[in-house]
Amino acid sequence: MSAPANVAILGATGSIGRSTLDVIARHPDRFRAYALTANTQVDELFELCVALRPPLAALADARAADTLRARLAAAAVPTEVFAGAAGLVALAQWPEVDAVMAAIVGAAGLAPTLGAARAGKKLLLANKEALVMAGPIFMAAVRASGAQLLPIDSEHNAIFQCLPPRASSGLADCGVRRILLTGSGGPFRTRSLAELAGVTPDEACAHPNWSMGRKISVDSATMMNKALEIIEAHWLFRAPPAQIEVVVHPQSVVHSMVEYADGSVIAQLGHPDMRTPIAQALAYPDRVEAGVPSLDLGRLGALTFEAPDFARFRALALAYDVLAAGGTAPAIFNAANEVAVAAFLRGTLPFARITDVIEAALAGVPAAAAANVEDILEADRRAREAASANAGRRFARSA
Ligand code: NAD
Ligand code: MG
Repeated sequence: MSAPANVAILGATGSIGRSTLDVIARHPDRFRAYALTANTQVDELFELCVALRPPLAALADARAADTLRARLAAAAVPTEVFAGAAGLVALAQWPEVDAVMAAIVGAAGLAPTLGAARAGKKLLLANKEALVMAGPIFMAAVRASGAQLLPIDSEHNAIFQCLPPRASSGLADCGVRRILLTGSGGPFRTRSLAELAGVTPDEACAHPNWSMGRKISVDSATMMNKALEIIEAHWLFRAPPAQIEVVVHPQSVVHSMVEYADGSVIAQLGHPDMRTPIAQALAYPDRVEAGVPSLDLGRLGALTFEAPDFARFRALALAYDVLAAGGTAPAIFNAANEVAVAAFLRGTLPFARITDVIEAALAGVPAAAAANVEDILEADRRAREAASANAGRRFARSA
């Protein structure tokens, strides 16, 4: 039996990070938590280091890292602590690390996730924003280094499972007609536009099926999450936008589907529990226990599907526009959303204005060619400026 695979978890204190640690803990013979990172969460990372004794840890916030280092030394825990954005990249590329779980939320995950891709790691991708921002650069890095890229997002993990192994060379070669990306429709699926006006952050974060971090929960409520996932699917599977369709499926049991030229539609089903895709990717191509119970279809009764409403959830149409525009447009789209969601969660932007702020940033910041990461980061910065100005102004007017 070979030694356990050393896993680095970027975003270890988050929803995906915790689920990853849960799966790892079930298989000490196969996986070891080797490096753990977080943003500012000293207490949480300290407790994880005491319990799991990973050789490495890092905090993006340098002062928080100093505190963690001192507390671990006092507790005689031999974890080496790194700091800042460079510290996160160092852990993602560490020679002894075999697999990297990229589970930081938002653009902050781009540098370490891309670092892992460039270092040729087995890369488990939850941080969809990194791929949306820098799709061609990211995929080129994966190809150049020979990194093994495995999707964690439940839909993309499902699609991966429904495709033949040779699909990495492009969908046309394996007879794929369409990718059917399922989405629950979020907590506001049945609400009218007027009813969406006054919703609160807690209402937006109360997802009917999934328990997730707050940013992705708001993205689910606006269906921006599905919009980002359209772009994610485009890059991961080299799927032309016209072959990616969204279908609303409120029960979140069918995680996505692939339709072939002969009319066959292959789906992957399971409980809405991220430990399934995490275990699938960690153990790939083996299968291991993930702590997820069997699906009781008799008890579930009905699985239902409906067409998405592009009028209420404008982010969906924007995803196709942004893909058509190319270059830095997806990075602008993503950055404006991050600013708008943060403002909504702070209580300074009404829910119904989130998509307005994204549209205004796309209109105000011209998309350009993206030759390198600097071009992407510049577009990200300009979109954040535009969106911040807009988020403030729009709220002032409506308050
Ligand atoms: P979360 O908010 O629960 O956790 C985020 C993690 O990232 C935390 O560990 C936090 O410390 C870290 N982090 C945040 N900002 C950072 C920064 N500036 N620098 C360094 N680290 C930072 O988020 P989550 O729900 O676990 O989502 C993580 C990613 O996975 C997102 O990209 C999300 O879209 C994707 N995803 C999540 C789910 C889910 O079920 N939660 C499903 C599919 C995809
Ligand atoms: Mg998803």
